[in-house]
Amino acid sequence: MSRTPPDALAMLRELIAAPSISSTTAEWDLSNLKVIELLHTWLEELGFSCEVMPIPHQPTKANLIATLGTGPGGLVLSGHTDTVPCDPELWHSDPFRVAERDQRLYGLGTCDMKGFLALAIEAAKSFVDQPLKQPLIILATADEESAMSGARALVEAGRPKARAAVIGEPTSLKPVRMHKGMMMEAVRIEGRSGHSSDPSLGANALDAMHQVLNELSAFRNELKAKHRNSDFRVDFPSMNFGCIHGGDNPNRICGHCELEFDLRPLPGMSVDGLRNAIGERLGPLGAQFGVELTTRALFPGIPPFENRDTDGLVALAEKLTGHRAQAVAFGTEAPFLQQLGMDTIVMGPGSIDQAHQPDEYLALDQIQPTIDVLKQLITRYCL
Ligand SMILES: [Zn+2]
Repeated sequence: MSRTPPDALAMLRELIAAPSISSTTAEWDLSNLKVIELLHTWLEELGFSCEVMPIPHQPTKANLIATLGTGPGGLVLSGHTDTVPCDPELWHSDPFRVAERDQRLYGLGTCDMKGFLALAIEAAKSFVDQPLKQPLIILATADEESAMSGARALVEAGRPKARAAVIGEPTSLKPVRMHKGMMMEAVRIEGRSGHSSDPSLGANALDAMHQVLNELSAFRNELKAKHRNSDFRVDFPSMNFGCIHGGDNPNRICGHCELEFDLRPLPGMSVDGLRNAIGERLGPLGAQFGVELTTRALFPGIPPFENRDTDGLVALAEKLTGHRAQAVAFGTEAPFLQQLGMDTIVMGPGSIDQAHQPDEYLALDQIQPTIDVLKQLITRYCL
């Protein structure tokens, strides 16, 4: 006898009760396999054919591609299975147990974004008994909150393919068609320490870093002068000097110094292009100051995202929700799904204001509208 998955709220409870924190700090990083297993079981019960895709070099992580129907075209509903770390002592209830109060469901991942996965499955239930002309694909990814290694593995594999994709990040159910990219970079300078009384006894890494900061500031100003996009509240590519470490004592020539900064490119700017430009600008300073200067990326970076096709999924989502497509300040897996050739938007229940915070919640009044919009999208793309 075939079984049927639990209702949406029961699914959400089980997903929240399965911790799946991803973090670049190894001691906080957890497997997402329990979440993948839950989704796998429910989707298989509904008749989806499921493929668990391992993530290279990460045996405790996987993506899930679950497909109902066959053939080209169709729709992907995509969510990430991981959450950020949390501070349980700052929560008013256990982050790993869904607590309902004030017309809200509290729990880590309720809005960012296990809630969407539960609602996507709930919406799919209405379609399992009818033949689909084009496939419905529910995609669950790993490590979105850390290195986006799940999305990168999908691009590498060239799957899934569909005509359109919705990533259900919390946007209060408003369509989003662009966001900035994100890069985190480091500059390391190895000089030579020596007695401070005679500068010729060493090579001062701080002196060189001073010039690095000057160069990067000049580059920042140039980027700001050249690139503007009024769809964004911060309408230029930003660069933030985040931390610097170097030296040990006032009476020693500074032997080494390291700077970390972030850079958020606007749509149309390339992560690799920016990295090359930075390398070219800073490269000559090494010889000039007699130090060894290296630049490196702290993570591969998230490309900026823009869906320029405003007649397809963007227009449909605007019509269904009554909201114009907008730009957001956070990065998503959208540029990766777009790279796979899909007409991609970001749109999901809950607000980003509640994500990555103690007492993260999903408001109950977001649930039915989300299911309704998803059903309409499935009808449009798959029936
Ligand atoms: Zn998210």
